[in-house]
Amino acid sequence: MIWAAEAGDPVSRPVFYSLPLWLTITFYVVAVATLVWFFYAVARKIRRYRSGRQDPADRPAWRRLPGALLGVFTNRNVLRDNWYAGLAHLAVFWGFVGLFVATILVLVDNDILHPLLPSWTFMKGDFYLVFSWLADFSGAILVVGLAMFVFRRAVLRPRQLRVEERDDVAFLKPRVVRWEDWAFLVLLLTAGLGGFFLEALRIRATNPSFEGVSFVGWLLSGWLGDTGVTASGADTTFGYLWVFHALSAMALIAFIPTSKAWHMLAGWYSLAVKPARIGDMPPAVPTAGGGYGRLEDLSRGELAILEACIRCGRCHVECPAAEGGFPLSPRDLILALQVSARRLLPGLRPAPGTTATAPALAGEVIPASWLWSCTSCLACDEVCPLGIQHLPLILQMRRDLVARGEVSDRIQDTLTNVMRYGNSLGQSPRNRARWVKELPFEVKDARKEPVEYLWFVGDYASFDPRAQAVTLAAARVFHAAGLDFGILYEAEQNTGTDVRRIGEEGLFEMQRDKNLQALAKAQFRKILTTDPHSYHALTREYGSLNGNGGVPVLHHTEVLAGLLESGRLCIVAPLRGDVTYHDPCYLGRYGRVFDAPRRVLTALGAPLHEMPRNRERAFCCGAGGGRIWMEDVPGVKERPAESRVREAAGLKGVGTLVVACPKDLVMFRDALKTTGLEEVLAVRDIVELVEDAIGATQRSEA
Ligand code: SF4
Ligand code: SF4
Repeated sequence: MIWAAEAGDPVSRPVFYSLPLWLTITFYVVAVATLVWFFYAVARKIRRYRSGRQDPADRPAWRRLPGALLGVFTNRNVLRDNWYAGLAHLAVFWGFVGLFVATILVLVDNDILHPLLPSWTFMKGDFYLVFSWLADFSGAILVVGLAMFVFRRAVLRPRQLRVEERDDVAFLKPRVVRWEDWAFLVLLLTAGLGGFFLEALRIRATNPSFEGVSFVGWLLSGWLGDTGVTASGADTTFGYLWVFHALSAMALIAFIPTSKAWHMLAGWYSLAVKPARIGDMPPAVPTAGGGYGRLEDLSRGELAILEACIRCGRCHVECPAAEGGFPLSPRDLILALQVSARRLLPGLRPAPGTTATAPALAGEVIPASWLWSCTSCLACDEVCPLGIQHLPLILQMRRDLVARGEVSDRIQDTLTNVMRYGNSLGQSPRNRARWVKELPFEVKDARKEPVEYLWFVGDYASFDPRAQAVTLAAARVFHAAGLDFGILYEAEQNTGTDVRRIGEEGLFEMQRDKNLQALAKAQFRKILTTDPHSYHALTREYGSLNGNGGVPVLHHTEVLAGLLESGRLCIVAPLRGDVTYHDPCYLGRYGRVFDAPRRVLTALGAPLHEMPRNRERAFCCGAGGGRIWMEDVPGVKERPAESRVREAAGLKGVGTLVVACPKDLVMFRDALKTTGLEEVLAVRDIVELVEDAIGATQRSEA
């Protein structure tokens, strides 16, 4: 068949070039069947989502939609932490969008306008030339992006893409995951390359002079000519390749709602409902324990968001539990939930060989050991490019475990300690402020006299002998600066923030109320704390303190930075030796306090070397989320604190790891012993360095 423009304009092309009518009709039948399957699969998916709980938080925050759209169009989340994967995704995204728009334009022109106005087409002249160039450009970047992904998956094989076989979870089948990942890539690549070869065959068969704008097809057609493909050979081959191309495109469309390709739609939703501030405790839900006991307890939005996961594995490589060899991987958690929801919702559809009883979510669908491995460090939520929030799901499932009494003896003992004594260490409340006796000056009791700063000390800083030394140093520095401060003495209680992350909401509320009552009886203008976990509770979890015009709450690094910069603390002995600084999770990622500690170190004259994982990407010490109270998990390769001190010790010339959290101090000092790095590295709280630097004169004058 000889090519000819349908609308009398030579600068155009017919859609079904050289195809017999029966094939064209078959194409439409298959296309309609594919679309019917697509919408059927989508309807089943929506039915599954609707078996979840209704939750107002599922509504997208429309005012943040422009930002979410900008994020999607620029791919900034994907580019943020991995330029290679980000660029590949950017190319695939825009290539796909370009080809999708091109297909819609052809559909409108050929299938809607053409039947109504047979002699009219907009696919001609200059419009056609621009269209053709853009379609080729889109296809080219799509193929380049896909080739980058294939190279990464097949050759580079980064750890984050490897989903390992595991026998502790029933529904997650890594082989199926790998198959699906490859199938998605291959289908896209087949569709992209097939389109180019079809175009090349058409150009080879018809040789229109203006088709140089279809630059990829034009070059390929030249290559076909060089390899001996004649015009009539191209004409014959075109039909076969066309059938293959159409089938692969239909397979891709059918694949979208049943695979990770669905992230193209679910990802938008996930980003649109992502909270503006991550790290808030999820509200208790109306179940027996207030947490998630069944898959149906997840909200509809959460069920949808599970399917936004692209298995990029960023959460997996950031997770201290996964890195250390604990059973948990946040990526595998999302995948296991996703697959279980597909298998078990709506209603129970048990796997062959399983019983018909719906498995408990926490402990059966997701092993309890996964849930107890989490340190609540928030690294996964911070890094996920699709805005998926893993931690709230883990915390909801922990609540259910606690409600069912499925907690270890050690956790149970700690909870009992908090309830009975108001602290996690099981010490008498009268001992809480015993450390003040070692000071040569009085520390005011804020319950009895007004102070400017109410110092909320926290459990570890009050009771642990190693942390107490830092508490004493802090008191001396505050005193030297002339700070008007006081404490609550035995009226201070554990804030309950870690208790809450264990899953004991009721006990948290009790602790919060006791602390709020004690604070209400004291007279102060600001709260100061040396403990990031208390900082988090006081800034974000103690509602009446945090409302509009609430009490300012400061971490000691913020106060110290102000004192040093205003000259109230004078440096007489600048620090010697290079240091590195560890961002505590609850101060950094949760509280976004990154600069104050660095300002302090700058004021001290300390050459600061950043660890590779710093600020938002800082690695966890392994103590948070109540993990400091739990037993070690058998088979752990390396504890997070050990990994962190090795990272610090790996910095050339650095002799001090500076911390700003009592738990970090304890964890890292222990880790120095177990790693044998005691001779190489010292762990010191930032306030100890300040005390060294201000010298004895200022201290004694004070
Ligand atoms: S919060 Fe931290 S420990 Fe828990 S799953 Fe996320 S990255 Fe892992
Ligand atoms: S949950 Fe997010 S970060 Fe983790 S693998 Fe999925 S998309 Fe990647």
